[in-house]
Amino acid sequence: MDLFESLEKQEINFCLICKNIIKLNIETESNSKEEYNPKNKKLIQVKLPPNEDLSKLEFNNNNDFYCFLCLNILDINHNIYTEILKDIKDLINQYDHNCIKLVLKFSSIFNFIFWFINTKISKIYNQNLNYIFESDTIRQIFINKYTSFFSEKLEEKFDNNEYNRDLDLIINYDLNDSIYQKFNDIILSSINNNNKIDIKEIKEKYLLNKNTGRSIIKALTIEICDINALFMNISKFFSIKEISSNININFSLSPTAFYISGNYIKLSREIGQNHFDRIFNISSVDEEIKKYFSKIFKNSEKDDFIFSASGREDRNVRMLGSGRNFIYEIFNSKKKFGLNFDKIKEEFNCESKFVKIKNLKISSKSEYNKIKKEENAKIKKYLAVIYTSKKIEKDVINNLIKDNLDINQITPIRVLHQRAYKERKKQIISLKEIEKINDHFIIIEIIASAGTYIKEFVNGDLGRTFPNLGSLLDCECDILQLDVEDIIF
Ligand SMILES: [Zn+2]
Repeated sequence: MDLFESLEKQEINFCLICKNIIKLNIETESNSKEEYNPKNKKLIQVKLPPNEDLSKLEFNNNNDFYCFLCLNILDINHNIYTEILKDIKDLINQYDHNCIKLVLKFSSIFNFIFWFINTKISKIYNQNLNYIFESDTIRQIFINKYTSFFSEKLEEKFDNNEYNRDLDLIINYDLNDSIYQKFNDIILSSINNNNKIDIKEIKEKYLLNKNTGRSIIKALTIEICDINALFMNISKFFSIKEISSNININFSLSPTAFYISGNYIKLSREIGQNHFDRIFNISSVDEEIKKYFSKIFKNSEKDDFIFSASGREDRNVRMLGSGRNFIYEIFNSKKKFGLNFDKIKEEFNCESKFVKIKNLKISSKSEYNKIKKEENAKIKKYLAVIYTSKKIEKDVINNLIKDNLDINQITPIRVLHQRAYKERKKQIISLKEIEKINDHFIIIEIIASAGTYIKEFVNGDLGRTFPNLGSLLDCECDILQLDVEDIIF
């Protein structure tokens, strides 16, 4: 008697598609039985027929039929698929895109069900086939077989290559709450008396819900439950029909993330670079920009933007000149094509009083990496209003240093709570007097190596930065105002 006949006698049926896959893989396995290692089961790929053969295989069109492998997920004529197609189309139309990728997501309760199916089949067949009976198998078959179906029905171009697509069409599979409830009752009645976890903890951490991960399922089927009892109880109280008819299918769309880079100019001493550096309810550079961007990209200001910049300035320091390089990684954008960056820039600059942007462009991961790398690699030009306790004669500042001046900076007191205690070697490249306000107040220009703490170079930070401007001028020095005038490459 062949395998399927003996299984059918026990009311274990497979659709024609799954039957074919099983046959194909049993043959494969008998040739390579000794290589099979349950620990590395991922190494054994399920063998699928070529797509042209796969496309000819049909799911049985019998209303009362429930497949023990695919749980009827492969039944593409099922009403649920035709019902969601129109909604999918409506949603897709809201997104800029050329190419879509089909993605199937199974909530991990399916792993629990596949554990049961594997145990059952293995007992009957006396051969381990658990790499066939798992959600990856169904995912692979579904995508290979039905991508063209979605392409045709939705009149959209599908490409399952990671790099070509603009949108992921994600079909999510889950089970109705009643099934979770029933499984959890079974788990509680199948607990292994020898396990070391008490019932309260099991109830809190190990019962199935929509967010249960694979590790919990592993723990349930290996340590927490008596697997024989668990298996018997599921056999007694569940049928594949009940599971299959309680699968709920919904979909979501996920556009691929992309990058936009530019430079920002910060004209205010009140706003910080991002929300970590702000007082009261005053906005920040990041928040100003993404508030505007979320209108353009029609996504969430709160969740859909990741901001990075090449370095930062203190809140009370303005960022002037050509500005500081920034980059956004943008998620869930409905808009992607035909962006008019000149218009976006102009409108933003009109709307935002204290932040201005320029050089906006579509960017890339490599640009992102470059900006992160440059974070502390650029020479900067500052303008500072300083106070000196003694009168400084004309040209003294201009002649104070000839070549680059090496200075040692121990982590400043004001940032000690955020930064490691460390001594850094930095350079002051040039010092120039720009304007004398009166005998004690001067505007000076400082060019310094990346990462120099300018405030501390001026005030000495109680000797923690040395030499400092005060030690060079032999008087007390303080800083009243600071601007990043430019970032020099
Ligand atoms: Zn099937």
